[in-house]
Amino acid sequence: MNLLQPGDVAVIGVPLDKNSSFRRGPAQAPAHIRERLHCGSANLSAESGFNLADSSRWRDVGDVAFGAGQPEFWAIESAAGAILERGARPPSLGGDHSITYPIVRAIAQKHPGLTILHIDAHPDLYDVLDGNRHSHACPFARIMEEDLAARLVQVGIRTINPPQRAQINRFGVESIEMKDWSPDRLPALTGPLYVSLDLDALDPAFAPGVSHQEPGGFSTREIQRILQSLTAPIVGADIVELNPLADVNAMTAMVAAKMLKEIVARMLA
Ligand code: MN
Ligand code: MN
Repeated sequence: MNLLQPGDVAVIGVPLDKNSSFRRGPAQAPAHIRERLHCGSANLSAESGFNLADSSRWRDVGDVAFGAGQPEFWAIESAAGAILERGARPPSLGGDHSITYPIVRAIAQKHPGLTILHIDAHPDLYDVLDGNRHSHACPFARIMEEDLAARLVQVGIRTINPPQRAQINRFGVESIEMKDWSPDRLPALTGPLYVSLDLDALDPAFAPGVSHQEPGGFSTREIQRILQSLTAPIVGADIVELNPLADVNAMTAMVAAKMLKEIVARMLA
């Protein structure tokens, strides 16, 4: 952490899946994404030509350490806060989607007026699910209640039900459903921008290794196009919901590693 300079990018793993509602596994994701990133199958170049291997402006700071008797969300917010304190920016590797809330809490303190681009099959706006207000189905309800973001733009959504529709209206969320998607539907986004990528936004044909496979989603290429089109300054990002226990030949971990390269390159461009 001490080596971080202002503007650097600090990749941090968040091995937490206790707030998953259907099946566990995403706690194991950070190690699997790192393994694919460095497995030698591909180089570290993003498609822009930015080569992560040649850059000293990003580093992997390891996983959030969870101590006994300490709330996990506190540890996550503190770890993100330590990165931000040095003027650096965290892309995190989840974990289930619940981890976005404590990270955005840290980001919002430093970056008021935040815009969040949320890429997901699900709105994750439940007030409460299965009695858990910190469920991975709830992070954006907590974020919007606390006014941590000025604007929440969701793409890839294909599971809206009446309670989540009510939350979309309540919080003024710009939720673009997958059935209506075309690239020109993405509104202009200004910074500071936070990107939250739930891998179940992809069609399970491209990314089967998620806890909630939801057919009818994005191709890998469509999400890359979205990421590559962003021009606003990115102050943080997460890649969540990889479930290695549901993966096939580590192909979803490879997608996550590819997306990480694109995001880091975009942050440092
Ligand atoms: Mn999600
Ligand atoms: Mn999802």
